[in-house]
Amino acid sequence: MFRQSKQAIPREYSLAGKSIICPHCQSAQFIASKAQLNTALATLIELDFLNESATILTCTSCGQIQWFGVTPTTEA
Ligand SMILES: [Zn+2]
Repeated sequence: MFRQSKQAIPREYSLAGKSIICPHCQSAQFIASKAQLNTALATLIELDFLNESATILTCTSCGQIQWFGVTPTTEA
């Protein structure tokens, strides 16, 4: 059987009370993935206060990638 990863399903996300919209094509459908930030990079971009991990949202329409230092809320 083919198993589809949960994270490969396009979803809508929100953060700080606002829906996340692609800045390029205004799509609201993203595929989320996690990225580990190594310490040097986290320090470089002043994310030391975060957990050294980031959420990456890839727009399913145009492929624009957005990075978030916190985990966005998944909408229905
Ligand atoms: Zn887009």
